[in-house]
Amino acid sequence: MANGLMTVSYVAAAILFILSLGGLSRQDSARRGNFYGAAGMALAILASVFGAHVNHFEYLIPAVLVGGAVGWMLAVRVEMTQMPELVAVLHSFVGMAAILVGYASYLQPATPLDATDQTFQDMQAVLGNLFGRAQNDYSSAEHTVHLLEIFVGVFIGAVTFTGSVVAFGKLRGSISGKPVMLPARHWLNLFGLVMSVFLGHLFLQATGSQGLFPLLVMTAIASLMGVHLVMAIGGADMPVVVSMLNSYSGWAAAATGFMLSNDLLIVTGALVGSSGAILSYIMCRAMNRSFISVIMGGFGTGSGASSSAAGGPQGEAVSISAEETAHLLVEAREVIIVPGYGMAVAQAQGAISEITRRLRAKGVKVRFAIHPVAGRLPGHMNVLLAEAKVPYDIVLEMDEINADFPETDAVLVVGANDTVNPSAQEDPGSPIAGMPVLEVWKARTVVVFKRSMATGYAGVDNPLFFKENARMLFGDAKKSVDSILAHLPS
Ligand code: NDP
Repeated sequence: MANGLMTVSYVAAAILFILSLGGLSRQDSARRGNFYGAAGMALAILASVFGAHVNHFEYLIPAVLVGGAVGWMLAVRVEMTQMPELVAVLHSFVGMAAILVGYASYLQPATPLDATDQTFQDMQAVLGNLFGRAQNDYSSAEHTVHLLEIFVGVFIGAVTFTGSVVAFGKLRGSISGKPVMLPARHWLNLFGLVMSVFLGHLFLQATGSQGLFPLLVMTAIASLMGVHLVMAIGGADMPVVVSMLNSYSGWAAAATGFMLSNDLLIVTGALVGSSGAILSYIMCRAMNRSFISVIMGGFGTGSGASSSAAGGPQGEAVSISAEETAHLLVEAREVIIVPGYGMAVAQAQGAISEITRRLRAKGVKVRFAIHPVAGRLPGHMNVLLAEAKVPYDIVLEMDEINADFPETDAVLVVGANDTVNPSAQEDPGSPIAGMPVLEVWKARTVVVFKRSMATGYAGVDNPLFFKENARMLFGDAKKSVDSILAHLPS
């Protein structure tokens, strides 16, 4: 493929990525957005693989096939509830790629390989086309800028890599959600940063490949900083961490693009980096947190250590049967359904959609209330409801519907917990104090679908279950919804 055609393909791919982000911002255009993203990525890969100077397809094609097959299998097998973990792992790959490309870029000019060796030249061409042009001939200023790109790229990559691995562990539950707060932790972070700047200075001054030592030490420090930054963040603030690591992975990709002089990687990385940063800001606003305080860590415990938890149970929870719930729904004029992580676990969205259809057919006004951090991934609930063909116009964001609960006859809280916890408003000592929540307890009757009295992701006890107008429908949400359906006229 000629260079001109490759550039045109890269520009087209960049435009498709921008269209993809635009499409993904609205539920009704999300499917189209996804298609644009996939098409852009396919074009980018094709343009790189069949770009100028690539000859050794016998290595490249199997690598692409194996990578594609692994990706395909993961996408088919992963459960929707495991998606956040998968995303965290994918972020860690981007971080690791930035580290590896950084080291390769640094060591390449001093490579002992004979540059006239045909295989080596072919490999350079493949890498160059895949990731950008490999540029070894630098003027002094260009060389310094290139070294700086490598250093910054490896730093961001290392923080992203280890931070994402810890986030993966926390989301999976193999690492406790409780924040690990080392004494003088802010000073430790500052020390790591100052040391990295100092090592950067040594790296830029070094000749030949002597900069390898400061680069290695900085990688170790940045890796520890990644672990420390995410370990210090409590369960309740994890949504911000997920989107923050998303942003970091974008900047790591952009840094890789600079190292390899690949314009498409720079544009794509910047798109991911800035959209992740905007998402983090939106998540922080949704949780009433300042971005800086989340990054610095120490908020949102994962141990249920709220002041209310210390006081033990606050009353007696009253249970309700599926039949009684069905009766309540048929009698209601207005119903709001609040889905949460438990709906995703139980895969109850299809049955919920059927309840909605039947109630609407009977003239009951049914709407959905979506909290910005419900589930384990931004937009988690919207995706599930769209999959279950719930009409878009009855799915409302928290701000659009929160004032309507007092006029609502029945609220169904399906597997949501933290996002409907009144202690966020009523208990200043709660780890989620100040986080805006869906005010479901203001409705006439609230039915909470869950299997036990256990806490949600943030590990905070929920006084909602003990409110006078609250009823607990215990059991797996899918089974409960199916039993309700059995008592509803079709
Ligand atoms: P929660 O995690 O607070 O609660 C989920 C509830 O679902 C649990 O209390 C659980 O209770 C119940 N549940 C689990 N499985 C089932 C089942 N099969 N049937 C019925 N109930 C079930 O969910 P929310 O959506 O309200 O809140 C999301 C939480 O996740 C917030 O703390 C948020 O900060 C955090 N988070 C969000 C991210 C995002 O981007 N959206 C990312 C990372 C974290 P029981 O075990 O008793 O059944």
